[in-house]
Amino acid sequence: MILDRLSVEGLITETEPIAAGMTRIRVAGEGLRALTCTPGQQLRVFTGDPGASSLRARLGDLRTYSVWRFDPELGALDLCVLDHLGAGPGARWARAARPGQAVRFRGPEGSFTLRPDAPYHLFAGEETASVALGALLAAVPADSRVYGAVETATAGARLPLHRAGELAFVVRGDASPVSSAVLVDAVRALDLPDEPGVGYVAGEARTVQLVRDHLVRERGWPRRSVVTKPFWTPGKTGME
Ligand SMILES: Cc1cc2nc3c(=O)[nH]c(=O)nc-3n(C[C@H](O)[C@H](O)[C@H](O)COP(=O)(O)OP(=O)(O)OC[C@H]3O[C@@H](n4cnc5c(N)ncnc54)[C@H](O)[C@@H]3O)c2cc1C
Repeated sequence: MILDRLSVEGLITETEPIAAGMTRIRVAGEGLRALTCTPGQQLRVFTGDPGASSLRARLGDLRTYSVWRFDPELGALDLCVLDHLGAGPGARWARAARPGQAVRFRGPEGSFTLRPDAPYHLFAGEETASVALGALLAAVPADSRVYGAVETATAGARLPLHRAGELAFVVRGDASPVSSAVLVDAVRALDLPDEPGVGYVAGEARTVQLVRDHLVRERGWPRRSVVTKPFWTPGKTGME
């Protein structure tokens, strides 16, 4: 079937709340053993109902999720999906995810990946970004310098990140994650080396832009030193 050539099918084998509002979903299967995944890459998940009668409903809309962990020997990978409390297909799919359900996806793919020759690495983003940032942080060589600012609505919404002791964590509380001054201020407050490093900035699109503007305009970084990836923004569906 053409779908099998264009996508991979796995089974959900575990779900757990990994942080407040965030569910870790493990997908496993023989087809996953052959995949390659560079840390920071993402999947495009078909969010439809595998038991539905029409192909359209079985596939549903595509939504993009970063790979939190990948184990080729086990043929398994983990996603972490934020329940943003809206009724989008991605949030509904993750809410309904249960062990034993089939899931079809494309990828892994994407270029939000480490630049190995960076003088140092700077990470910035909110809840959804911290999934990709977590995968990148786990892959940074131990002797590389790491800086970062991670914003969440509450302290309980933080993912367990590698090298967390080297990062600044900030809580936005009731403030909006859109155009977030909380995250920009946290990046501004970082005591960074004088020379530019490589920045990895993801999450809400307007905040991503503000953080990049800060690094380029206020700190004088070249634009190419900031790797950005907008994940979502109000009024847009399924960015990517
Ligand atoms: C490269 C990439 C990687 C991504 N990785 C992850 C990931 O690892 N984990 C993850 O949870 N998401 C991730 N996302 C976001 C994800 O793809 C979906 O956009 C998100 O789950 C919302 O999908 P939805 O179908 O529920 O809502 P949609 O129908 O796509 O969006 C409807 C509306 O919901 C609101 N909304 C969407 N997301 C949020 C949010 N986070 N907070 C508040 N309001 C929101 C917006 O107003 C949006 O217009 C990633 C996106 C990209 C492009």
